[in-house]
Order: sequence, then C-alpha cells, then structure tokens
Amino acid sequence: MPAKRLASTLVIFQLLALSLSGTAAFAGQDDDNPRVVVMLHSHHANMPWSQAFNRGTRKILQENDKNIVLYDEYIDTGRFSDTHYYKAFYQYLQVKYSQRNPRVLLADSQPAHAFLEQYPDLMPGAQRIVFQTDEQGTSRKQEVDGSWNINIISDFHQSVEEMLRLAEPRNLYVIVGTMEPAGEKRLIAFRSNQALTDSDVRVHYLINIPLQELNVMVSQLPPDSAIYYLLMFSDMRGNYMTPYQIVQSIAQNANAPVFSHWQSLMGSGILGGYMISGERIGALAGRSVLSAMNGGNFRLRPEDAFNYYYDWRQLNRWGIAEKRLMPGTDIINRPASLLDRYQVSFIVAAVIGLIILLFSFLIYRHLLIRNIRKASMRIANTDSLTGLNNRRAILPLINKEMARCNRFHTHACLLIVDVDHFKMVNDNFGHLTGDQVLRDIAEQLAACLRVADTVARWGGEEFIVLAPATDIDQGREIGEKLRKAIEAMSQVHGKTTTISVGVAAYIEGETFNSWCDRADDALYKAKESGRNQVVISDIKYSVIPQEQGIERQVDAGIYAADQTVKDDGSGEI
Ligand code: GH3
Ligand code: MG
Ligand code: MG
Repeated sequence: MPAKRLASTLVIFQLLALSLSGTAAFAGQDDDNPRVVVMLHSHHANMPWSQAFNRGTRKILQENDKNIVLYDEYIDTGRFSDTHYYKAFYQYLQVKYSQRNPRVLLADSQPAHAFLEQYPDLMPGAQRIVFQTDEQGTSRKQEVDGSWNINIISDFHQSVEEMLRLAEPRNLYVIVGTMEPAGEKRLIAFRSNQALTDSDVRVHYLINIPLQELNVMVSQLPPDSAIYYLLMFSDMRGNYMTPYQIVQSIAQNANAPVFSHWQSLMGSGILGGYMISGERIGALAGRSVLSAMNGGNFRLRPEDAFNYYYDWRQLNRWGIAEKRLMPGTDIINRPASLLDRYQVSFIVAAVIGLIILLFSFLIYRHLLIRNIRKASMRIANTDSLTGLNNRRAILPLINKEMARCNRFHTHACLLIVDVDHFKMVNDNFGHLTGDQVLRDIAEQLAACLRVADTVARWGGEEFIVLAPATDIDQGREIGEKLRKAIEAMSQVHGKTTTISVGVAAYIEGETFNSWCDRADDALYKAKESGRNQVVISDIKYSVIPQEQGIERQVDAGIYAADQTVKDDGSGEI
C-alpha cells in the first residue's frame, strides 16, 4: 500500500476513534444492559462469506434473544494487511467498545483469529469465540487461554463422493491456486481423500494456471468430464481476484459442470455439491454465543456446517433431474412458480372473480324470483281451461274503469255472455267436447274484441266483457258482434252453438254489484226471450234541478237489442 494512502487511512481511523470515544462514553452511561456482542469479520462487508456468516448468526440470535446487540466490524484483510493498519484498527476498537462492555467477541475466520491473537488485551471482559475452517484434522471445539476455538474441517470426502455419484465423470479436472499457504494445504487434503483414491476416475490437477489459459482449457474438455474448483485467489498474472469472480469466468467457459465445496460460490455458475456453508457456520456461531451468554456448554455437531446445494439453472443446463438429488438439498435460482410470481395478481383476479360471481348470482336470483313471480301471477290470473283472464284478473280492471267513469264522466259497458243450452252439449257429446267448445268460444270472443276491451271467464260457461269508453248503443253493437260470431262458428255435431248476452252501461256512482246485477238481469231476459240474443239494461235519467246542484235519478229498465223488452217481459219490436 502506498505510504500516502496508509497515512490518510490512519488519520481517518484516529478521527473515528476520537468521535466514537465521546459517543461510547455517553452510551455506556445510558446503557445498563451489557449484552453486547462484537462480531469481527476477516473480510469486507460485501464478501459472500461475511454476509452468509452474518445472516446465520443474526437469525439465531434474533430468534432466541432479542436483548442482544450485535456489532459488526470488518478487518478487510484482502485490502489492508499492513501492521500499521492493524494497530490503528485495534485502537479504534478499543475506544469504541471501552464503555460498551461486550460480553462476546466473535471471529468469523482465520485472519480475524490471527488479529485477536495479536491483541490479547482487546475487550478483556468478553468471551472470545473463534470460528475457522481448515482442510485437515477433525472438526472440534477447543479452549485455548479461555478462548473457544471452533474448527470446522472441510469434508472433501463427502463432497467428492457426491460429485462422483451425480456426474459419474471419467475425467476430473481439479482447479486450485497454491500461491497462498492454505492453497497447498487444501490441495493435499483434497488429494488424500478416500473417495477419490477409491474411484477409478482420472484426476487432472490444474494448479496455478493463469485464468486466461484455464478458460480455454475448460472449454475443450473431453466428454464425461467434471470440474472441481478448489479455490484460486489470483489470476496468476499478479492480480488479486475473489474466488467467486474466478469461478464465474471458468463456469461460463466450461463444457463440463463445475462442483465445489463452498456454498458462498453458489450463483457464480457452478453446479453445486456437498458444501460448507457460511450461513450454517454463522448459525453455529449464534448458538455458541447463546451458550457463552447463558453459561451453557456449546456442543459442536460438525455436520451442521454442511449441506447439499445446487443451482436450478445449472441442473437444467447439465440435464440433471431433481429426483437424483439428496433429500434436504437446497436449490437456488429456482424460478418462482406462476403462483408465487403473480401472487398479487392472482388474489386480485380471484377477488374480482368472486365479486363478479356474487353479482351474477344476485342478478340471476333476482331475475329468477321476478320470473317466478310473473309466472305465478300469470297462473293466478289466468283461467286454466280457456287461457282467458279469470274473475280475479278482471275485477281490478272493472274497479279502475268505474273510478275513471266517476271522475271523467266517461262511459263503459259490461257484457255478460252465457252459452245457450250448454248442458246439452255436455250431455250429448261429453265433457271433453264441452271443454273444447268453451275453448273455441273463448277464442272467438277474444278475437272479436278491441284491444282496449277485456274478456274473462266469469265461471262455468259464462264470460264477462269489460268495454271501456263505450256507451250503451256501442255496447249493444259489441254484444251483437259477439253473438253473430259465435253463431257463425263451425257447428258441433251438426248443432249450432249460440250465446245470450246481457249488456249494462255504467251509471255514475253505482256499485259493482249493481252494475253486474243489471247486466245479469238483462242476460236473464235474453234467455227468457228465447236465447241467442242481446238484451241491454236500459237506464232512464231524470234530471231534477235542486238548490245545491244537479242530482241524477236513475231508473233502470231492460231492453233487448233488436227488440225492446219491458220489465214485465213483454217486448215490442
Ligand atoms: P241455458 O241456456 O239456460 O244457459 O242452459 P245451460 O244448459 O247452458 O245452463 P245450465 O246452467 O243449466 O248448465 C250449464 C252447464 O255448463 C252445466 C255444466 O255442466 C256446464 N259447464 C260449466 N262449466 C263447464 C266446464 O268447464 N266444462 C264443461 N264441459 N262444462 C261446463
Ligand atoms: Mg249459465
Ligand atoms: Mg248456459
């Protein structure tokens, strides 16, 4: 690092430490709860390892103890490895946490561990817990000078076994950089693992090969090859690169699937494998912190640090069926199902659909009820034999017409029609013929009338006609028209059917019964006078001037249409 840049970094740290010493003192007075945990990360905050470890730790702590305050500190050894820098960082931490009394000081990997070893007096009251991963030995928890050292050993055996099981390669290409001491160690551990030595796969080691050349090599591998990426930290041309960036480039160019051992490489384009997981080690760290806080003992289960991880897109690229994966495998990059992707749209559509359905149902129900009502009204108002209105249907119309006559001094006639000697039709030809004759008569009557007139079956073989805006002369004409129409109807078994009709014009103020009786009386006269005729109920007006106004006196008599019939029954033509 250039001296100028280092100097400015130190100044920044000193300023930071100064400003924090004020806030730390203040916070210390205020904060009685000492459950502070400081998490010391080796790398910077954007490193996948830092992020995964952090996620795992935080999840466990948040789930189990809401009072823990977790501070993250990043040494960022990839960029700053100078001893001056370490010293400044140490001072900064000392000042920042002097008043906060951290209970646990956690290190996430080797470089952070080395830093802590260099400064044993940093945060003296804190339980030191160091997590690191290594390539050789056995996973275990060890106490060194009161510090918990938890060492997770890479499980290359199971990782290789998994790769061989899934890819069944004849050639295996192992890519590794050994410029750093850990690289050499890693290679040795990998080489000596039992799964590899037991299999008959041909292993080719690509050690410290510049990335550019590697990219070409991996694009020309023979069929039935697999690649195992054992980490590189440099492009071998003197440039630092993260292992993720390197494998991204390799995976893109390779004509064989890339397996590896570090979950933090997932997403780079590698296929996957049995991997050590930063997040899972972070979770172990979270549990160890809880043990340290609560005085319990932390028991390490090394297998908790590993799992099977695969990339859904790569599984498809290499044609590997999901059912071949081990149970509990984590699959990343799986596209959200349609339901997940359009969840909101689905819900909105479902709600709109339901509303439409509900409204349709309500409208349907409304229409159904309306139709049922209409139908039942029609049935209730219709005579079942003839299809004409029945008595119930015509009565309100008659009442209305009477009201109109009374108010506007208009005329209206009622005609009562009775079939002559109908009993004989039944007696001679049977009831069914009688019914048919009634239907024919009904049809004829309806056909003869004006639209404004209403005909109804009054009962038995009697019909009633309401003729609005009709005076007695017109009423008689209507009666005649009906009578002639029925008389002209086709004969039943050689017999002509005839009707008798009684007609009465409405007299203002009279009741329905009176009106109806007068029409009935006229009908009676028609029968008496030999049937097949129309008789009108004659009315006599005598107008007598009175003091308050004019009063009408009504004196009704009965007259036949063609012949005038007196009350005593005698008639004159
Ligand atoms: P008139 O000329 O004096 O009216 O003689 P009529 O035989 O028509 O009168 P009456 O009242 O004696 O008989 C009416 C008959 O009408 C009796 C009954 O059987 C018949 N009738 C009433 N309603 C129906 C019906 O719905 N169908 C049939 N087929 N006959 C009916
Ligand atoms: Mg009758
Ligand atoms: Mg009759």
